[in-house]
Amino acid sequence: MLEMPEAVTIARQMQETLTGKTILHFARGSLTHKFLWLSKPAEEYETILSGKQVTGASSFGRSIYLFVGEAQLLWFGELGGRILYHPQEQPLPSKYHLRWDFADASAMTFTLQMWGFVSLLERSELHKQPHAEVGIPPLSVGFTLEHFDQLLEEYPEKTKKGIKGFLVTSQHVNGIGNSYLQDILFRAKIHPTRKIPTLTSNERQRLHAAIQDTMAQAIKLGGREDERDLFDHPGGYHRLMSSQMVGSPCPNCGTIIQKISYLGGACYLCPTCQV
Ligand SMILES: [Zn+2]
Repeated sequence: MLEMPEAVTIARQMQETLTGKTILHFARGSLTHKFLWLSKPAEEYETILSGKQVTGASSFGRSIYLFVGEAQLLWFGELGGRILYHPQEQPLPSKYHLRWDFADASAMTFTLQMWGFVSLLERSELHKQPHAEVGIPPLSVGFTLEHFDQLLEEYPEKTKKGIKGFLVTSQHVNGIGNSYLQDILFRAKIHPTRKIPTLTSNERQRLHAAIQDTMAQAIKLGGREDERDLFDHPGGYHRLMSSQMVGSPCPNCGTIIQKISYLGGACYLCPTCQV
């Protein structure tokens, strides 16, 4: 899934590469997907988008916004998959779910993995959508240790779901998914099943710092190695804790890295360092 560092990278590349291009045509590809949601029928996307100019792009947490004309935007959200740019005369992939052709003969395709949505909205409608711009993205000015502490206190499920639930599935912090979570918890030396009321102030501080450090490093490196940017290049961020580490020694203490299933996904951790 695309998490904040990938969203920041792709939005920046869209802004630099697509701004000023005129959309000639929108189409669905030969692939269909049960878990790709559009906000209106594809024919309406074609009608609304054709002839409009891309006017910019930005991101908010895990969401990417591509601005079209004066009043519309495409909102790419909760996405797993590839958003790829294809310069003039470069062949398109044989299979994809959505395609935008530009007047200069370049194109963009989207191929979904898992699930996600690509909504076409009036810009003025965005704030009325459920889940739009909720929570606070790490690295934003307001994401201070004090604010983070306050969010932890206010999390209604804090005694049940623990820290993974708070960071990944609650809407308090917007930008972290199950992949960066592993590295954040490893850096903070916290076990994914820890319940929030048991975290000491020192641990909360380590967690806040690990979130900021991990996100900042990954953004600087263009996202993580197992995702692709707009130009189909892998990111430069190498994950510390992933499926590839299972059975290998912890880089800090040598204990064998474990995999556990928790809250609908796998967690990779060092049982000695992370308590
Ligand atoms: Zn260890």
